[in-house]
Amino acid sequence: KLHNTIQELKGNIRVFCRVRPLLGDEDPEHVPAVQYPQYGDLVGRGVELVQTEGQKYTFSFDKVFGPDMKQENVFEEISQLVQSALDGYKVCIFAYGQTGSGKTYTMLGQPDNESHKGLIPRSLEQIFKSSQILQGQGWTFKMQASMLEIYNETIRDLLSTSKSEPPQKPDSTPTAAKQYAIKHDTLGTHVSDLTLVEVTSWKEVSTLLHQAAQSRTVGRTAMNEQSSRSHCVFTLRIVGTNENTDQQVNGVLNLVDLAGSERLSKSQVTGDRLKETQAINKSLSSLGDVILSIANKEQHVPYRNSKLTYLLQPCLGGDSKTLMFVNIAPDSKSLHESLCSLRFAAKVN
Ligand code: ADP
Ligand code: MG
Repeated sequence: KLHNTIQELKGNIRVFCRVRPLLGDEDPEHVPAVQYPQYGDLVGRGVELVQTEGQKYTFSFDKVFGPDMKQENVFEEISQLVQSALDGYKVCIFAYGQTGSGKTYTMLGQPDNESHKGLIPRSLEQIFKSSQILQGQGWTFKMQASMLEIYNETIRDLLSTSKSEPPQKPDSTPTAAKQYAIKHDTLGTHVSDLTLVEVTSWKEVSTLLHQAAQSRTVGRTAMNEQSSRSHCVFTLRIVGTNENTDQQVNGVLNLVDLAGSERLSKSQVTGDRLKETQAINKSLSSLGDVILSIANKEQHVPYRNSKLTYLLQPCLGGDSKTLMFVNIAPDSKSLHESLCSLRFAAKVN
C-alpha cells in the first residue's frame, strides 16, 4: 500500500495562515498588499504579497483564512485536533506573527464574548462537553490547567497565588524558592513549583484566565516589560480512565501565544532591550529549528536550545500533533514583517 497522502509525508505538523481584517484606524489604501482567499471563498491555501513595484511573493499553507473568517469558522477547522487531546494525543497550537497581527485574538480573543472568543475558550468548552458525553461510556477524566509566561528565558507562573512572590529579574539569583526547573517524566513535562489547578468546567478555567491576565499586568509593570515580548503558554493535562475497559489516556493540549516576531535590528536597541530581543529571536528561531528538524525526520532535534522548546519537548515530535498559525496584518506598512513571517512559516510548513 502506498502511503502518499500529504499528511503522512509531512508528519503531524500543519501550518495555517490567518490574515486579519483592516482595523478602523488603518488606511484602506494600504490594504492591497496582501491577497488572500476572496470573499465567498473563506478558506484557501494560497496567500500572495504584492509590493508596490509589482513584485509578488506567493506562499501556500495547509489552510489560509481570509479576513472574513470568523472565530467560529476558524475553530471548526481545528476542533478535530483539539478533540484528539481527549483521545490521549499531545497537541500544540501556536500563534506566530508580528505584534498587532492577531495572535492574541486568535488564541484568546474576548473569552466571554460569544462571537469574539478565541481558541482557548472554544477548545475548553468543547473538551468539557465531550468529556461529559464520554462519562456515559465509563470514562472519568481528571484535568489540570496551568499557565505560564516565558520572558527573557525565565518562567513566570501566571496562576501562582502567593502574593509575596515578586517577578524575578532574569539574571538575579533566585531568592528563596521558586526556580521553575523543567523536567521530563513519563507523563510529560514537569515544572517544579508551577501551579496546577484541577478544573471541571469552562467557568473555572475562565476564572483562571482572569487571574492570569491580572498576574501578567502586575508582573509586566514590575519588570518594565511589554506583553508582546513574552510567550504565554496555556496547558491542559488530561488523564482519562475507563472503568469498563481499563483503558487509560494521557492527553495534553498546549495553546501558545508567542512573543511578537518583529525583528528589532541590533543597532536600534541596547541594554535590557537588546537582551530581550536576543532572547525572543533565539526562542522563535529555536522553535522553527525544532519544527523543521521534526518535519525532516532528523535524528537530532535541538529541543534544548530554548526554554520554550524544552518545555514543550514531549508535545513536539513523536506522535504528537502540532499546528502553527501564522498571523498576518493586511496593510502594506506591515509588508516587510508579513514577508518575514510568511517565510518563517513556509520554512516549517
Ligand atoms: P497580537 O496579539 O498579534 O499583538 P492582537 O490579537 O492583539 O495582535 O490584534 C491586534 C488588534 O486587531 C486587536 O485590536 C484585535 O482585536 C484586532 N484583531 C486581530 N485579529 C482580528 C480578526 N480576525 N478580526 C477582528 N479583529 C481582529
Ligand atoms: Mg498579543
